[in-house]
Amino acid sequence: MQKIIMYLTKVFYKVGDIPIFNPLYIHAYIIHQWLLNFRSQPLSVNQKSAIIFSPHQDDETLGCGGLIALKREMGIPIKVIFLTNGQKSHIATPWVQPPENLIQVRKQEATTALHILGVKVSNIHFFDLIDGTLNHLSNEQYQNTIKHLIELIQTFKPGEIYVPHRKDNHPDHECTYKFVKAAIEQSQIELDLLQYPIWIFWLSPLFIKLKFSYLTGAYRLYINSVLEQKKLAITVYKSQAPILPPRFLKSFLLNHHEIFFKDQPKI
Ligand SMILES: [Zn+2]
Repeated sequence: MQKIIMYLTKVFYKVGDIPIFNPLYIHAYIIHQWLLNFRSQPLSVNQKSAIIFSPHQDDETLGCGGLIALKREMGIPIKVIFLTNGQKSHIATPWVQPPENLIQVRKQEATTALHILGVKVSNIHFFDLIDGTLNHLSNEQYQNTIKHLIELIQTFKPGEIYVPHRKDNHPDHECTYKFVKAAIEQSQIELDLLQYPIWIFWLSPLFIKLKFSYLTGAYRLYINSVLEQKKLAITVYKSQAPILPPRFLKSFLLNHHEIFFKDQPKI
């Protein structure tokens, strides 16, 4: 039975990877090109220290790997905080990666990827919440998480914070935005909040989710000089590669830019 499921999964992935059978690829491609060529403004790397909040081990590298490498090249302090331990990523595909040591595997992958991007282990933090549970934490877990986030923000005093997009089509990603936003408001520290897209271009028609006026506020950061570093860091995440749609992954490996949205709470 397991062999049949494995075979069907492989066929599903192969067929789904052909753009003509997958309208989401076409949508993602058009949105990306449109944003890049017509509706985004160039962003340059500044001197501000930054915290990158990542729901899972890989989002930080996919969404901000170029930014991290560019800032670290300039000696700018960066912290990376992982909200979850990623223990459930292979719940539907246990044969790809045994669940027993998945937490350790993913932590090791994150540490190695971030080392490539120039971030030391001492600047990486793991909150160890369970992935898939952020939108139904108990009140106590929620309060503890916010408290912990506030402590980190107040201690590090970053000039910028990066979070997944507030409508990123994944409950853990959207909760990461909400939690960090709440912590920033309570920490009373002035900083810039930027959102990085991971799934938003891929999983739903974008114009239904976001106003046109909002999309025109996108920023593009050119990462050509560190693209090889970013590619190498992405390939470190060997446990994730088999379960991510190949063309989705390829888009992060090939893009010479990263897209960010500055936080505009009222839109
Ligand atoms: Zn994620």
